[in-house]
Amino acid sequence: KNDLQCPLDKNDLGRNTWSFLHTMAAYFPDKPSSTHQSEMKQFINLFSKFYPCDYCAEDLRVELKTNQPDTKSQHSLSQWLCRLHNNVNVKIGKPEFDCSKVNERWRDGWKDEVFQPYSSSLIE
Ligand code: FAD
Repeated sequence: KNDLQCPLDKNDLGRNTWSFLHTMAAYFPDKPSSTHQSEMKQFINLFSKFYPCDYCAEDLRVELKTNQPDTKSQHSLSQWLCRLHNNVNVKIGKPEFDCSKVNERWRDGWKDEVFQPYSSSLIE
């Protein structure tokens, strides 16, 4: 095993990071203050400097030059992030995700399934 290798590979890191980013966008305020908005923009721009997959982060920084996060609302941010993720999906040959379903996937649960975002069985 290469000692310099991160214990998470690019795909595990990516999957976990997307879970975090989409969940963060899912719980962003519907009506963010201007401070919320500018701090979320800063967060994503700083994230693009430290994301520990060099070429992934480099592509993200290039993308951010012309496509800054849309932080007007929870809806805007989630849709922006969904499109960003879809750009990566296309780049690496994965299917695009239907962005109208982003809150079902990351916040509310699928409409056609019985789903408890916070399962009561964990509390009982
Ligand atoms: P992932 O793409 O990790 O997605 C996880 C889950 O998110 C999916 O199962 C699906 O339910 C949901 N999902 C999928 N698309 C969307 C969407 N558009 N909106 C909302 N939810 C969605 N890998 C590379 O090989 N090259 C790169 O340049 C690269 N750049 C990356 C840049 C960033 C910022 C990040 C976070 C990751 C990057 N990755 C890159 C990793 C890559 O995106 C995947 O995470 C990895 O290939 C594992 O894919 P996966 O099939 O598990 O699903």
